[in-house]
Amino acid sequence: MKRYVVVLAGLFIAMGCGVQDARVGDPSGADQTTGGLTWEQFRDTKAFHEKDTGVWIADGDTTFADEKLLREFYDNNVMQGQLIVNRIGTADDVWDAVTRKNLTYCVSDTFGTRKAAVVQAMAAASAEWMAVADIKFIYDSSKDSNCTASTAVVFDVNPVNVNGQYIARSFFPSTARSTRNVLIDNSAFTSSGDPTLTGVLRHELGHTIGFRHEHTRPEAGTCFEDNNWRALTPYDQASVMHYPQCNGISSWALVLTTLDKQGATLLYGAPGGTGGGSGGGAGGGTGGGTGGGSAGGTGGGSAGGTGGGAGGGGGSTGGTVTDTVTGSVAKGSSKNYGPYSVAPGSQLVVAMTGTGDPDLYVRFNAAPTTSTYNCRPYLSGATETCTLTVPSTATTAYVMVRGYAAATYTVKITHTPSGSTPPPSGGTPQHSTASGSVATNQQVNFAAISVLAGTILTVNMTGTGDPDLYVRFGSAPTTTAYDCRPYVNGATESCTLTVPAGQTSAYIAVVGYAAGTYSLDLTYTSP
Ligand SMILES: [Zn+2]
Repeated sequence: MKRYVVVLAGLFIAMGCGVQDARVGDPSGADQTTGGLTWEQFRDTKAFHEKDTGVWIADGDTTFADEKLLREFYDNNVMQGQLIVNRIGTADDVWDAVTRKNLTYCVSDTFGTRKAAVVQAMAAASAEWMAVADIKFIYDSSKDSNCTASTAVVFDVNPVNVNGQYIARSFFPSTARSTRNVLIDNSAFTSSGDPTLTGVLRHELGHTIGFRHEHTRPEAGTCFEDNNWRALTPYDQASVMHYPQCNGISSWALVLTTLDKQGATLLYGAPGGTGGGSGGGAGGGTGGGTGGGSAGGTGGGSAGGTGGGAGGGGGSTGGTVTDTVTGSVAKGSSKNYGPYSVAPGSQLVVAMTGTGDPDLYVRFNAAPTTSTYNCRPYLSGATETCTLTVPSTATTAYVMVRGYAAATYTVKITHTPSGSTPPPSGGTPQHSTASGSVATNQQVNFAAISVLAGTILTVNMTGTGDPDLYVRFGSAPTTTAYDCRPYVNGATESCTLTVPAGQTSAYIAVVGYAAGTYSLDLTYTSP
């Protein structure tokens, strides 16, 4: 009875925990199966296409804004017979210091006679979280008559009719606005006794401020989802975020436990907060009643612990600047741009248009990779936008455009410079080559090269057969850990990466997807 659904759209990333990916963009792989369902079987029988919103839901628990994201989830988690949520990230998925105090929402008039009950339940449920964390949910009833996924509030509350496929679903802070909705099924109104609508919303609003299902923790012994969370408190079998049927000891009353309250306070600070205005974030402690969701995906969040101070009103006096880049990209290759100077607390908007299917990646302080980014809409087509509040710890933003299919693009980067321009200066340009052959499944590792942070590393591979190129900073790549892996058919692959801050070495490997020969051409800057 996995009934509570959370939007994880945009958070699934291509790196697996020992899970072998399908080949990206390989049409012939569409019917490939290695012990599980084919893609079509999975999509047609295991996924549910929500007509009202266009999103896909699978795993009972997971929502995908686009069929392309569903396919990625299938490739990473289903094809091998597994069905788990896979995420990678090192930052908490929490609201930034400004938004957390202004979590506005509307309740759609389309609830009709049920609207009053929803308004009351939202008020009651949100009050319980606000009582234990320095966050503020604000009901904006002026938007109720036009309360949709594009209304100018942080999230909308709407009815949905999915015939009990789920009672309600919500989202994480990093979710894009278009799927940042609390959707309540008709079935939520017909149950008598527990769970009450308020109970359901206590659980759902926990997700909206970043809390994961407590039962994904290993102590539950069942209902495992993934390891991409950070503990705030000891395991809590009675947590409001713990399904009772997953070896839980709570009832369907779904109430906040003492540990839930402690975890919320640890993550966001005590209510009433430090200092006025927009400063005063939570001091990112450790621990987590309900496991803080980790970073990755689309949208706001991911500021992580430091909180406090900087954010406030001061900062962004300088003007807003719009930079425009245009280009084309082949399937599986990528182009990198930046750094762009950004002021903490200001808004960064990166908007892409074009033809074909380019994917937009944006990351603060370092170049994005296919598995590490602060925003990646990952939609079909070329129109993608990232709107981000610059975290207090960020000074630069980087943009990557990657060809899901061949594409042309124009990207407008609207940002507020912080005034201090980062120095990517110095160093010695280098050029080198290597060549050889590789057998199927053989991995050839090359010695580390010394690189200077902030400079560009480009590795171009040509050859015969099907060697795969891997590049990783700091240590040798593996088939599941890398900063770049085009992973396309044939031998022509390219990685262009900006060396992240703090990195001094890059490692390159060639792995035989099928036997082949390769020639590598490297350009980079050594210290
Ligand atoms: Zn849930």
